[in-house]
Amino acid sequence: MSSTTLDTTETPRLPDGPRGLLIDGTFVDAADGATMPVHDPATGEVMTHVAVAGPEDVDRAVRAARRAFAEGPWRSFSPSARGKILWRVADLIEQHADELALIESLDNGKPLAEARGDHGFAAEVFRYYAGAATKIDGRTVTPSAPGAWHAYTRREPLGVVGQIIPWNFPLMMASWKLAPALAAGNTVLLKPAEQTPLSALRLAELFAEAGLPDGVLNVLNGLGRVTGAAIAAHDGVDKVAFTGSTETGRAIIDAAKGNLKKVSLELGGKSPNVVFSDADLEAATAGAAGAIFAHMGEVCIAGSRLYVQSDVFDDVVSGVAEKARSLRIGAGTHPDTQLGPLVSDDQLRRVTGYIDDGVQGGGRVLTGGVRHGDRGYFVEPTVMVDVEADARVVREEIFGPVLVARSFDDPADLAREANDSPYGLAAGVWTKDLSKAHRAAAELQAGMVFVNTYGAIDAALPFGGYKQSGWGRELGPDALDLYTQTKTVVIAL
Ligand code: ADP
Repeated sequence: MSSTTLDTTETPRLPDGPRGLLIDGTFVDAADGATMPVHDPATGEVMTHVAVAGPEDVDRAVRAARRAFAEGPWRSFSPSARGKILWRVADLIEQHADELALIESLDNGKPLAEARGDHGFAAEVFRYYAGAATKIDGRTVTPSAPGAWHAYTRREPLGVVGQIIPWNFPLMMASWKLAPALAAGNTVLLKPAEQTPLSALRLAELFAEAGLPDGVLNVLNGLGRVTGAAIAAHDGVDKVAFTGSTETGRAIIDAAKGNLKKVSLELGGKSPNVVFSDADLEAATAGAAGAIFAHMGEVCIAGSRLYVQSDVFDDVVSGVAEKARSLRIGAGTHPDTQLGPLVSDDQLRRVTGYIDDGVQGGGRVLTGGVRHGDRGYFVEPTVMVDVEADARVVREEIFGPVLVARSFDDPADLAREANDSPYGLAAGVWTKDLSKAHRAAAELQAGMVFVNTYGAIDAALPFGGYKQSGWGRELGPDALDLYTQTKTVVIAL
C-alpha cells in the first residue's frame, strides 16, 4: 500500500516581496542585472526571479558592512539597544507567521506546520540572543609576574561576517547565524541557498522595521560557487560561518586561507539512532520514523542509520515502515500534508540515485524506494534493510526520507559500528536502563546525543558536530564565541 497523495492542483499565490539584493539598506538589482528563477518544488514551476550577486555586488556589500561596523551608528548601539532590535525581530516574525510560513513552504516544499514550527523556533533564537547581548563580558585577571597590575579581557566583535546558509531551514538557519553575530556587534553578509532565497529577503525587511541601521545586514542571493565563493574568499570579510555539505565546507576552508579569516562550519551527518530491546518500543518506533521523515529527511541531524537490537528488530522496523506508509504526501501548502516534495530536481535525482545504489548492493526496500508521482520532486518515504555496513547508503549522507536499518546484539559491537563514520553530528539512544543510556551517551562520537527522544533542539543547547561534521558550536552561549574575539589589556600600576 502506498502513501496517500493529496491534491496539489490548487497552489496558493506567492506573497509579493523584495526580490533584489539588500546592500546598504536598499534592495537593488545586481550590477550585471543577473537574476535566477525560483521554483515551486511541488510543481517544478517557476514562481518568481531573484537578483543574483556577482563579485562586484559582494564587494559593494563588504564595503557597506565595513562602513556600518567601523563608522555607522551600529558602533554606538549599546548592547541593550542591539538586544532590543533582536527582540523586536522575534515579535515581527510571530506577527507575520502565516505569511512567512507560506513563503517558506512554497520555496522549500516543507509542510506549513513545519515551517511555522521552524519560525517559532527562529523567534526564540532571536530572543535568546537579545538577552545574551547584555551579557558578553570580559573578566579581570590577576597576573603572577612581579609588579603591580590591573589586567582584564574584553570580548569584541570580529567585524564583517559572511554567513552562508543551506536550503533545508532557510529562515531558521538565518536566525542561528544572525542572532549571535548581531548580538555581539558584528555586521553581516548573509547568503541564502540558491534553492530558497525568499524568506531571508522578507526577514531583512523585518529587520529594517525593527530599527537595524543600513549596512548592518546585507542579503546576497546567488549561486554557491559564485556568490558564496566570493564571500568566503573576500579579504574584507573577517569571518565566514557556513552550514551545508562537508564537501562545500572543505571549499570554504580553502577559500578562507587568503586572509586567514575565522571559519565555523556546521556540516553533514549520518547519525545513528539506536534502539535497545528494553526501550519503550512504541515511543522508539515513532521516534525513529520522526527522526528520518520529518522535513522530508532534509535535516543534517536526521537519524538516518537505525540500529535495533536483534530480538526486537522486526517489530521496530516494520513499525517504522508502517508509519512511513501512513504519511500523507502533498504540496507543503496543503494543510493536511505530512511529507512535502524534496527541494529540487537535483535533490530528487540524488536521493533516488542513492536508493537505486542501495538496491543494487543487495538492499531490500520494505516500503517506498521510488519517486512519488510524476510532477514535482516527491519521493516515497523509504525503509531499507539487508544493507552491508560499508554500503554507500549506510555511509554517505543522503539528505532525504531514506532510512537504512541494521540489527545488533552486543552493545560493544554497536558502538564500534555506530562510530565507524567520518561524521559525528548527532545520535539517538532508546532504552529504559539509565546506566545503558549514560554509557552509550559517553561512547557515541557525536556533538549531540538524544536519549528517548530525537532532534530536541533549543536556543540554549549547543549544536554542532564531532569529526567531519563541523567546527564550533552554534546556539547556546557557545555561539557567542564564534562571533567575538578576546582582547587582553594589561596595565602596570
Ligand atoms: P547542497 O549541495 O545541498 O546544495 P551546499 O553545501 O553546496 O549544499 O550548499 C549550502 C550553501 O553553500 C548554499 O548557500 C550554497 O549556495 C553555498 N555554496 C555552495 N558551494 C559553495 C562554495 N564553493 N563556496 C561558498 N558557498 C558555497
